[in-house]
Amino acid sequence: MAVPTSRASEKAQVHIDASLCDGCGKCIDVCKDFGLELVDERMPSAIPSQEAMTTQKAKIKETTFVGCFACGHCMAVCPRMAISINGKTLSPNDLFRLPTIRNKANYEQLLTLLQRRRSIREFIDRKVEPEIIEKILDAATTAPMGVPPSDVNVLVFDGKEKNRKFAEDFCTLLKSKRWLVSAWFLALMRPFWGKTNDELFRKFIRPLVDVYISAMDKGVNVINYDAP
Ligand code: SF4
Ligand code: SF4
Repeated sequence: MAVPTSRASEKAQVHIDASLCDGCGKCIDVCKDFGLELVDERMPSAIPSQEAMTTQKAKIKETTFVGCFACGHCMAVCPRMAISINGKTLSPNDLFRLPTIRNKANYEQLLTLLQRRRSIREFIDRKVEPEIIEKILDAATTAPMGVPPSDVNVLVFDGKEKNRKFAEDFCTLLKSKRWLVSAWFLALMRPFWGKTNDELFRKFIRPLVDVYISAMDKGVNVINYDAP
């Protein structure tokens, strides 16, 4: 099974159904909150003359690293469906079946896909169908989450008019903050952020801001290229 990537700041609730757990330990291996452990549990024998048996069960530790960050990996790898994670943006309803291994791209196919990608920021003047946007968003939800908590929001501008409006607003913001790349401000900051950052601002960021503003003033959208 698999889950989409979950990102949010509060802790999630972990529930383990001990009657389903067979103590395989897979959930413990994948939990990077180190919040799960296997503990011995005495089970009464079904046969009265026999002694109680010891079996292992997954349990939530009393003290955890940062608290469950709802990566969902334990829930996805548990072969007995014994774990449920609720909270943040995740619940057991988010579990979905992995595509079959036969549909897996091999190394050459994946490399071909990456190598054929070409980004020249010129766009066909054609509306992007909502189904394609949904597919892109579905793919985006599988991105690695990085160090939690790390909320990520995706904003979709469906149409080049909205993209142009965003670019204009962004340009207005750049103009109001232009003093951040002025000679006096960079000279003031240099002792604090050092030569490397100073050069970055002088040689890259300031020229970029100048290009953005002058092009937009001429009606040429070099911020998001009127993408559809
Ligand atoms: S993966 Fe599931 S069955 Fe295995 S120890 Fe964890 S909760 Fe139990
Ligand atoms: S969801 Fe992630 S962090 Fe939470 S208990 Fe499971 S593996 Fe650990």
